[in-house]
Amino acid sequence: MQDLESLSARALADIEASTDLAALDAVRVAVLGKKGSLTALLKSLGSLEPEARRTAGQAINGARDAITSALEARRERLESEALAQSLATGAVDVTLPGRGEEQGGLHPVVRTQTRIEEIFRRAGFEIAEGPEVEDDFHNFEALNVPADHPARAMHDTFYFPDGRLLRTHTSPVQIRAMRGSPMPLRIIAPGRVYRCDSDVTHTPMFHQVEGLVVDEGISFANLKAVLRHFVEQFFEKPRDLRFRASYFPFTEPSAEVDIQCVFCDGSGCRVCKQTGWLEVLGCGMVHPNVFRACGVDPERWQGYAFGMGVERLAMLRYSVNDLRLFFENDLRFLQQFNRG
Ligand SMILES: [Zn+2]
Repeated sequence: MQDLESLSARALADIEASTDLAALDAVRVAVLGKKGSLTALLKSLGSLEPEARRTAGQAINGARDAITSALEARRERLESEALAQSLATGAVDVTLPGRGEEQGGLHPVVRTQTRIEEIFRRAGFEIAEGPEVEDDFHNFEALNVPADHPARAMHDTFYFPDGRLLRTHTSPVQIRAMRGSPMPLRIIAPGRVYRCDSDVTHTPMFHQVEGLVVDEGISFANLKAVLRHFVEQFFEKPRDLRFRASYFPFTEPSAEVDIQCVFCDGSGCRVCKQTGWLEVLGCGMVHPNVFRACGVDPERWQGYAFGMGVERLAMLRYSVNDLRLFFENDLRFLQQFNRG
């Protein structure tokens, strides 16, 4: 019985001294395991007289219950300590403000295109759209650019093996609009266009806005008035316009339009190369051959068309000097336009 008392006192002390679950389990095996000290005492009962065996058996069972419940209590305590510690080290403070939560904004090219659309919408134009994968007829043939025409060399075209192509300008939308709806027409066609070209002022994909007005009695004077209005609205100040005679296969006569420099008001600066003028768009009166390709009678209807580069206008409006910045998706650049 003395053995039992010292054995159970030592077991309870070992349990209390265990600082982790592995140490606690080692104590359990040493006392209650198959070869444990208490198990050995139980086995020795067989050598005692029946009366003494019963008394000793009860004492040993009492000691085993006490040790078992001490083991259980210690295990629960160690487990809750381990849980509390892992919660403390992996703690997430849900009241902290999030990181990287900033309000997004529209891309400057989208912003510029939307601005152009709004100005023309207020002037009575409708928005027209066409496919970016075009056929030769809509992109060239119907625009008075037959297969052997030298103007095709001006367009570095992406072709598909089946002869279709990525549209090189938004002008095919003119053809689709004239073939698809009755006259008169008053549309702008914004969208992406593609050319094999890449440097400081060219990217393989860029945006254009095409304009087309067809009606009876339309003249170049109407074209000049609409463009003057647009430029004044877009740059928020009156600008002098200069029309330089030019050549496009789909308009006759054709002109390139310069505006009084928006940076120096015409006195000459680095952006306008000291000329006081900036080239912003091309335009002209719709060529009779284009009308004929669309089944529109050129004796009855007249029209004008114009085309402008959205990136070019965005560069002028936001004073950006490298076109490629618009397509590098550098947030430090793009974030400057979030409120502009
Ligand atoms: Zn200037």
